[in-house]
This record gives sequence, C-alpha cells and structure tokens, in this order.
Amino acid sequence: VHIHGLDCGTHCPLGGAFYDGVSRGAFAAIPTRCLLVETGEGLVLVDTGYGLLDLPPHPRRLARTWPLVLLPRLSEASTAIRQIEALGHKASDVRHIVLTHLDFDHAGGLADFPGARVHVLAEERRSAELRRGLVGKQRYRPLDWQGVGDWRSYAPDGEGWFGFEAVRQLDGLPPEILMIPLAGHTPGHAGVAIRTADGWLLHAGDAYLHHHQLDSRGMPPGLAIYERIMMNQPEAARHNLERLRALKASEPDVKIVCAHDAHGHP
Ligand SMILES: [Zn+2]
Repeated sequence: VHIHGLDCGTHCPLGGAFYDGVSRGAFAAIPTRCLLVETGEGLVLVDTGYGLLDLPPHPRRLARTWPLVLLPRLSEASTAIRQIEALGHKASDVRHIVLTHLDFDHAGGLADFPGARVHVLAEERRSAELRRGLVGKQRYRPLDWQGVGDWRSYAPDGEGWFGFEAVRQLDGLPPEILMIPLAGHTPGHAGVAIRTADGWLLHAGDAYLHHHQLDSRGMPPGLAIYERIMMNQPEAARHNLERLRALKASEPDVKIVCAHDAHGHP
C-alpha cells in the first residue's frame, strides 16, 4: 500500500501558539489530516476532512459555535476530492472511506464521494444519530452523511492488535487495514491501523491532539481546553491515551499520528 497525507481544512484559531505551540502570529495553524491509501481494492480514504458543501455559497452545514473558535481556513483546493483529483484520480476511484468518527471536521467530505462504502464503528453511528447534548448537536451534522448509501458498521471482533481490540475484517478491504476502537473523544471513536512495508501506521484520529501528549509532555493550553470540551468520555479518553503512550514506548515500529497535528505524517 502507498499512503499520502492530506490536510483537508486548517483550523486557525485566534491565539496562535496558545493553540498550536509554535505559531508566532495571532492565528494558529492546525491541520485536519486525512490519509489516502492506494490499495489493490482501489483508493481508501481515512477521514474526509471538510468537503465542497462546507464552502460558500452552499447552505451552512456547520454549527455556529465551533467554527467561530476554530476559524477553519477552507478552500476548494483543500478538500479531499480536489487534492485527490490533483493526484490524477477521480472521485469514483475512492471505493472506501474509513472514518475515525463522525465529527463535522472528519465527515464533511462524505458527500463528495457518493459511490464510496463508508466504514465506521456501530457505536459511532448510534452516537451521531442520537446527537446527545449541546456538544452532540454541534459536532454531529446529519447533512454530512445523509447521502451515504453504503454504510458498514462494526463492533470490535476477533484477534486484538498490540493489546487493543480491533475490527480485522472490514467489508471489501484488504487485511492490511484495521479499525482500532479508541473511545473517549466520541463514544465510537476509532483509530485506523495500516500495515505498510515499513511497519504499522496508526492514525489515531482525535484520541490525542498534539504529539507531546504521547510523551507525557504538556500540550498547548488552548488545545487542552478544546480537547476537554469535546471529550465525551474523559475516563476512556485518558485510559486510551495511556495505552497509546505505552504502545509508542514499546513498539518503535508502530508509527502513531493524529488528525490535528502534522507531526510524523506521511
Ligand atoms: Zn477533529
């Protein structure tokens, strides 16, 4: 398999380094990283980022609150579909989309790939349909997934993966791509593990937001506040972060990346 990293919408909150730890100006720059995986079964997209329908002049699909804080810098060129086309492919070449979760910044591009089969944990679909609480209503935007015709949802099964539970048989996908349940940020949140020639790559979604968290170092304070607000199950989130730290420490051949930090991405 060959993997491309794509930033499908940069968050530029006012506060600069307060949010990303490095920006010198007033605004931070926090990517929304998706993966494009070339496999024998066609192209597989891990998360979609923001899509064409998140851009003006389309009807507003995002909640009012979070975009005001995150200030996503969106352009047509930053959408997954346009980046994939720039690589010489068509939207219909994307046969599968594997979602870490259904938040607006991960599922916004689903409508750009109407022919794709969409894989998600069953718990996440349930949670997204329920939209519990104020945060639930803001993070989950049903218009994002209303056009999906081919859902596949899963509960963890079979053999684990480095001590984590795993979904090993994704319908129609090669065995090199697994879902790893990592509840916390949302109830059905998952990482996506991909076996490459150089070892495993784990896209941990929003299980953590900054790579310092994997080394028990501090994260930018603004990001920590955002993380806490969006954390649906704080206990599970902390537990899973501990397990990811242990995985990183014990398995140097497993590369771990997350959605909102370019660090370590392909
Ligand atoms: Zn996110």
